[in-house]
Amino acid sequence: METSGVLGADPPRFGSAEAEQLARTRFGVDGHATPLVSERDQNFLLATDAGHGWVLKISNAAEDPAVVEMEVAAVARVAALEPDLPVPVALPADDGRTVISARSPAGTEHVARLLPAFGGAHLAPRDLDAPDIRSLGTMVARLARALRGFFHPAAGRVIEWDLQHLPRLAEHADAVRDPARRALLDEVLARYRDRVLPALPRLRAQVIHNDVTLDNLLFADGAVSGILDFGDMAHTALVFDIPATLQSLLRDRTDLFEVTGAFVEGYATVTPLESEEAELLGDLLAARMAQTILISAWRMPRWPENDYITGWAEPAWTLLDQLREVGFALAGQRIASLALTPGAAEPPPEAELIARRRVLGNALSPLTYRHPLHLVRGRGAWMYDAAGRAYLDAYNNVPVVGHAHPRVVEAIARQASLLNTNTRYLHSSVVELGERIVASMPPGLDTVTFVNSGSEANDLAWRLATTVTGARGGIVSEWAYHGVTAAIADLSPSEWPRGERPDGVATIPAPDPFRGVYRDLPDPARRAQAAMADAVAQLAAGDRRPAAVFLDAFFTSDGIFAPSADLLAGLIGEARSAGALWVADEVQSGHGRGGDGLWGFATWGELPDIVTLGKPMGNGHPIAAVVTRGEIMDRFAAETEFFSTFGGNPVACAAALAVLDVIRDEGLVARAASVGARLRDGLRELAGRHPAIGDVRGRGLLVGVELVVEGTDRQPDAALARWVRDEMRERGVLIGSTGRAGNVLKIRPPLCIGPDEADLVLETLGQVLRARRS
Ligand code: PMP
Repeated sequence: METSGVLGADPPRFGSAEAEQLARTRFGVDGHATPLVSERDQNFLLATDAGHGWVLKISNAAEDPAVVEMEVAAVARVAALEPDLPVPVALPADDGRTVISARSPAGTEHVARLLPAFGGAHLAPRDLDAPDIRSLGTMVARLARALRGFFHPAAGRVIEWDLQHLPRLAEHADAVRDPARRALLDEVLARYRDRVLPALPRLRAQVIHNDVTLDNLLFADGAVSGILDFGDMAHTALVFDIPATLQSLLRDRTDLFEVTGAFVEGYATVTPLESEEAELLGDLLAARMAQTILISAWRMPRWPENDYITGWAEPAWTLLDQLREVGFALAGQRIASLALTPGAAEPPPEAELIARRRVLGNALSPLTYRHPLHLVRGRGAWMYDAAGRAYLDAYNNVPVVGHAHPRVVEAIARQASLLNTNTRYLHSSVVELGERIVASMPPGLDTVTFVNSGSEANDLAWRLATTVTGARGGIVSEWAYHGVTAAIADLSPSEWPRGERPDGVATIPAPDPFRGVYRDLPDPARRAQAAMADAVAQLAAGDRRPAAVFLDAFFTSDGIFAPSADLLAGLIGEARSAGALWVADEVQSGHGRGGDGLWGFATWGELPDIVTLGKPMGNGHPIAAVVTRGEIMDRFAAETEFFSTFGGNPVACAAALAVLDVIRDEGLVARAASVGARLRDGLRELAGRHPAIGDVRGRGLLVGVELVVEGTDRQPDAALARWVRDEMRERGVLIGSTGRAGNVLKIRPPLCIGPDEADLVLETLGQVLRARRS
C-alpha cells in the first residue's frame, strides 16, 4: 500500500496560540487551548470562562475537505434521528459554515471545525460489566441505524481502517519477523480471503462509524456522555462496526466469549444480525486484529514515538492467541451462536432443562443420545449447541435442503409478513403448489389436498380408501410407522401398545433379504405375492376386506430396505386384486431422498392410488399433502367435505414452493445419488474391516448399516448400535438407529450434505468402531 494518504502524512503543526486565535476570530469562542492526542489530526481542548468546553479539530493537510463535510453531515443526521446519543454537532463559524479553512504557521491549508467537548472520563475495558457492554452494543447499533440511509460521495474513499481493504495491507506482513507470529497472521489473512472476501458482496453495507472504541467514548454517571471521532467512517459492511468496538472492549480481558456475547446481544436488540454476518464475526474479529498489526507494522518505523499507533499491536496479538487457542473455526461458531441466539451467552444448564421437561409429560418420546443435545441453530448440514459446538447432522430428513436455508426462511418470512389465511380464500400459492406437485407425479395423480403432518396425510388417505372401497381392513409392513392419529397408530405396528395387533390390521414381513420369508429366495415376487395373500387372509378371518396397503418406499422403520421392483409388483398386484388401494407413504422417502427423481415409489414402475407427503415438504415448516386421482377424491366428496384450518395456508405453501425450487436449483436429487453412493461405498469398505457391520443398504441419502454380533448368524446387535450412535454424537456426528431390533444405523442427512461431510461421517464411524476394539 502506498504510504501517502491520511495515515501516511504528518499531523498538522499548529501552536496553542494559533488555535486560540482561530477559535476566537472564526467561531467567537474565547478559551484556553491545550493540545490533545490524535493519530493523524491536531485537536485542542478550549476551556472557556463560561465553563463550556470545545474542541478545535484541525484536520491533516492530506484530509479531503469533502470527508470532513461528510463527518459533519453524518453527525447532524445522528443527532436528528437519535437525539439522546451524545454526538459532537459542529458549531457554525462566522460565515455560517461548520467546516472552515485554516492556514498553519508552516503555510499549509487545513480544514478545521469546532466541536463541543463532552464532560466525562474514559473508561478501561475492566471497568465495564456485562450490562455496560450490552448497552454499548445497543448504542453502536443505534448509531448505525441512524446512518442507515445516509449518503455522501466521500464515503466511498479507501481507508486503511476499513476492513474490506485488509488485503491491501498484506504487503506489510513481512515486517512481522517472528515465524510463529507470522504463521498466525497468515492464517488469519487466509481465512479472511477464503471466508470473508467471497461473502462481502452479500453483506449489508452502509456508512458506519467504524471506530466506536473506548478511546472515542466518554462516560459520566455510568452512561456514555460523548461519542467522538467520526474520522474512520466508511461505506462498508454494517457488521464491521462490531469487531471495531470489540477490539477495544477485549483489550486486557480474557473473557472473550462473555464480552462478545453481551455486546452482540445488545446490538441484536436493535439490529438482529443476519446469519452470514454472524457466521463471519469470529473471522472479522481476527481480521481486525490483523489489520491493527499490519497498520502498526507499516507505521511504526515512521512514527516510533506515537503510542497511539504502536500501542494496539501487542493486545491484538494477545487476542489472536486467544482465538487460536480455541481454534478459529470453533471460536467463530461460538461467536455466531452468541450473535444469533441472544441470551445463549447464559443458556439454562442442560440438567435444569431436562428436569423442567417434565411439564411435557411422560408419553413424549425420550431425548436422543446418552448426553442429550441442546441445539440452538443450524446451517446446511450442521447444527450448533448452546455452547457453540458444531455437529454434522447426518440424521435429519426434515431440513431436506439444509437447516435454515436462506431461501426457505426468506419465503416464510415474506409471506408471514404479508398474510396468513386458509384455503377458504383464493390464494395463488396453494394452487401453484398443487399444480407443481401434480406435475412432478406420474399422470393420473392429479388432485392434491393439503394438511399439516404426515400423520394427518395418512389419516386422510385412510378415510379416502375406506370410503372408496367400502372396506375396513389395512395392511402394513411388520414394523411400519405411519403416524399418530388413532386410525394411523393402529396402522403403525412399531407403536402398538405391548405389540398387540388391533382388529382389522394385518402385516406383511419386511423385505429383509437375510431373514424370514425372503431369505435366500430365488423368486421374491412370488414370495411377496404369497405374503400379501397371507395378510389378506388374516383380514378375512376377522371378516374384513382390505381397504388399503400403506407402504413406505424404503421401509425406513422396518430397518431400511430398498426392494426390487419385482418384489413390490408382487405385493401390490396381490393387494389390488383383493380390492385394496395402494397408499405410497412418501413422508420419509419423498422429496428426492432416493436420489432418483423426487418420489421413492417411482422406481417401482406402478402407479399408486394415493401418495402422502410430509416431513421434508416445508424444510421444517409444517405442511403435508395427499395426492390422488380426481375420481377417488370425487367419491369422497360425494359423502363429505374436507377442510383443515392450517392445511395449505399461504406461509406453509411459500415454504413448500421454496423447497421445491431449492431442490431443483441446487441439483439435490443428483447430489443425493452421488453422495449416497459415496457413503455406501465407504461403508462397505469399513464393513470389510469390521465384521460387526452385517449389511450396508438403502437408496440415495437414506443409508442403513446393520450391526450384528460377530460370529453369529446375523444376530442383531442393538446395544452396539446405541453405543455407536452415542459415540458418534460425542465426536460431533449425529446419526440414528432403526429397525425392529433397533440394530440398524440410520444415516439420513439433509440432501445438501457434501462429499467432504460424507467422508467425515465415514471417518468418525471408523474411529468409533476402532475405539470399540481397543
Ligand atoms: N409416515 C412415515 C413413513 C413417517 O416416517 C412419519 C414420521 N416419522 C409419518 C408418516 C408421520 O409424520 P408426522 O410425524 O409428520 O405426523
